[in-house]
Amino acid sequence: MDTVHMTLDEVHALTRKVLTKHGCDDANATAIADNITGAERDTATSHGVFRLPGHVTSLANGKVNGKAKPTCERLSPGVVKVDSDGGFTPLAFQVGKQALIDAARENGIAVLAITRTFHFAALWPETSALAEEGLVALAVTSSPPYVAAAGGKKPFFGTNPMAFAWPRKEGPPMAFDQAAAAMARGEIMIHARDGHEVPDGVGIDADGNPTNDPDAILKGAQLTFGGYKGSAIALMIDLLAGPLIGEAFSAEAGRADNGDGGPALGGEFIIAIDPKRLGAGDSYLDHAEQLFAEMTEQPGVRLPGDRRLKARAVTPSEGVHVPKSLHEKITELAEG
Ligand code: NDP
Repeated sequence: MDTVHMTLDEVHALTRKVLTKHGCDDANATAIADNITGAERDTATSHGVFRLPGHVTSLANGKVNGKAKPTCERLSPGVVKVDSDGGFTPLAFQVGKQALIDAARENGIAVLAITRTFHFAALWPETSALAEEGLVALAVTSSPPYVAAAGGKKPFFGTNPMAFAWPRKEGPPMAFDQAAAAMARGEIMIHARDGHEVPDGVGIDADGNPTNDPDAILKGAQLTFGGYKGSAIALMIDLLAGPLIGEAFSAEAGRADNGDGGPALGGEFIIAIDPKRLGAGDSYLDHAEQLFAEMTEQPGVRLPGDRRLKARAVTPSEGVHVPKSLHEKITELAEG
């Protein structure tokens, strides 16, 4: 595949230019560009510039508010709420982050409920940012219904990702981030774009038959990982990011959506825990390091997130390679 080399600064500048050209104000464009550039830096390509045309579509058709002014409210000592004002999530998280950190440090545990938001990104940026502050964090969000519930043939759940991060004694946090779907939709789209089949168990066609054809799955339904067990995780995420915080669950969000292929209006639910307040003394970091060391002693075992962190060590100096066709598309978008 032909690619174009870009530095991370170029990725950030081009992303900001595209977003401001298509209706974002400076605060929203910068927050989204930070998020997309972070994904490119970690070679999390399914949520890098690959997502920019989708952002533009949802801005252009008026679904997403590019000039959103998220507001933050402390509902109780341990509950912070951010109304995202119908914008993309990165700015809403920025607006609520410090209040969540303060609440977690005061109470030992706190929740951030982000409502009226469009989550079109990976979740590890949120949990990692909290773990960088010494907190343990869990985040979930629902998405438009693309995934069949166990036993079903039609989409019901979103791909419903869940991210968790743990602060390390040295260096960036350990962070995993995974969809409840067997494969993230962005990955299936990339397989379709590149003409590759997907593995068994990723999805079913519109008649409910198992298939390896990514295009057929995009028209049919995705499957959860681990059969009914993944379906239960997807259900939990729908509840936490939906009814618990007064937001739509995936199927409802899908019905209210304009079907432009972008995210649907919904919620994100984040828990932050201050490990210093859990009575384990000061040993938790060393104790966790021991766990990580024993776990990765076995050949073939690595920590989740290590692939991203390896990429992060290289891309700031070496840059990234973006598919040429995608680069052309976003360059056109930047010109208007
Ligand atoms: P992957 O299956 O690629 O990876 C899931 C996790 O497993 C990652 O933390 C990954 O770490 C880790 N991992 C992978 N291989 C191994 C291994 N061999 N040993 C240990 N850990 C491993 O992610 P998904 O496809 O499920 O999700 C991709 C992204 O899509 C996520 O960032 C998710 O948030 C996002 N998404 C967003 C949605 C939204 O609505 N906003 C909806 C659905 C998904 P590593 O990165 O280091 O490989």
